[in-house]
Amino acid sequence: MKFAALGLSAPLLETLDELGYEHATPVQEASIAPLLAGRDLWASARTGSGKTAAFVLPILERLRPDAVVQALIVVPTRELAVQIGQSIARYGRHLDIATCVAVGGAPIERQLDALANGAQVVVATPGRLLDLRAQGALDFAALETLVLDEADRLLALGFHDELTTLQTQLPTELQRVLFSATFPPKVVALAELILRDPTRINLDSGAAPGADLIEQRVIEVDERARGRLLLHLLQVHAWQQLLVFVASRRAADELAHELSCAGFRAWPLHGELGQDARNQTLADFKARRFQVLVATDLAARGLDIAQLPAVLNFDLPRSAADYTHRIGRTGRAGAAGVAISFISANNAGHFRLIEKRHRLQLEREQVAGFEPRELTPPVRDVNGGIKGKRKSKKDKLREAKRPGHPNAD
Ligand code: AMP
Repeated sequence: MKFAALGLSAPLLETLDELGYEHATPVQEASIAPLLAGRDLWASARTGSGKTAAFVLPILERLRPDAVVQALIVVPTRELAVQIGQSIARYGRHLDIATCVAVGGAPIERQLDALANGAQVVVATPGRLLDLRAQGALDFAALETLVLDEADRLLALGFHDELTTLQTQLPTELQRVLFSATFPPKVVALAELILRDPTRINLDSGAAPGADLIEQRVIEVDERARGRLLLHLLQVHAWQQLLVFVASRRAADELAHELSCAGFRAWPLHGELGQDARNQTLADFKARRFQVLVATDLAARGLDIAQLPAVLNFDLPRSAADYTHRIGRTGRAGAAGVAISFISANNAGHFRLIEKRHRLQLEREQVAGFEPRELTPPVRDVNGGIKGKRKSKKDKLREAKRPGHPNAD
């Protein structure tokens, strides 16, 4: 659908045209009209679906020139806040808008100044938001729209209390919007607490984002051999860029160091780096100034890096939802991508649970020269057959002899 049919006006349509956005994505198509009409919205949409524009465009369309803090967007991480701030600047470039990105780890004085100077849109992480409220710097009198973005992550990061406190401070007349990639019971409870007669949008069939565009591969490898295998894959595939996920800050530092020593341009990204360093690393990666970003889940959450060709789970994610979020970093906006997961004897069972949640059964691969010595237990399907295991020579021979097989005589 064309954006003009959704009720957006000329300056925004012109910008979208300049950005080369020809058609609204499904989440934009479903969200923009109800949001322009002032409805509450409860949407399941993931990063990569175009959800930022889905809520930012209606906010910009409805913005009045005078009032301060007309829209408040609450997000789980600093990176996501910065990114949304950039999206607002991009979509609002023909408008005169003042925005404040209010996150911890950055000097509060600048945020206080931005608010004092009349920021119309505030993008904030919950902690800093409540700090600013407590200092009397944030007035909600003119607030018209509240967006909770990535609500599942907000709750997973323990922001439940901050959000319920915020709820008590909101004006009665307010458009409330909640986006979430997944809907565990806690998120449903939050949606029910906050939203009023919302338009509900569920564009997810439970499949991973752009799943058809993402090739998901699983490679069996001994834990100790993962670093060497990664170097091998980098050499073989010559990916222009790769996002590697690890489980801890230490693992991110060590692996980035190991890759650098081997001659690849690699940097770590994790929550314990200073905010400036995180922003710089992210900006450099987006500008393709280095090849491999080694990140923890928190740091990489919601990152929008256009057309990332490959994502690698060096360590497995903790949950099925995190798996979805991670692999959603590739296969963005119509481009194909590959998501590789390393599994070893220790975590094969955990990966099977992730597959079960997503109703997936991926074939296990091994790479010549990196075959695991520790045995990975086979995957059994409901009929007792073995699924997803690498086929043995005997199996292949048997298969080739089956009638109808191209190699059958
Ligand atoms: P998001 O899901 O908001 O993180 O957006 C993912 C990416 O899709 C961003 O790089 C946007 O610039 C891009 N995008 C959003 N909407 C459209 C559209 N209608 N057409 C083309 N690209 C889009």
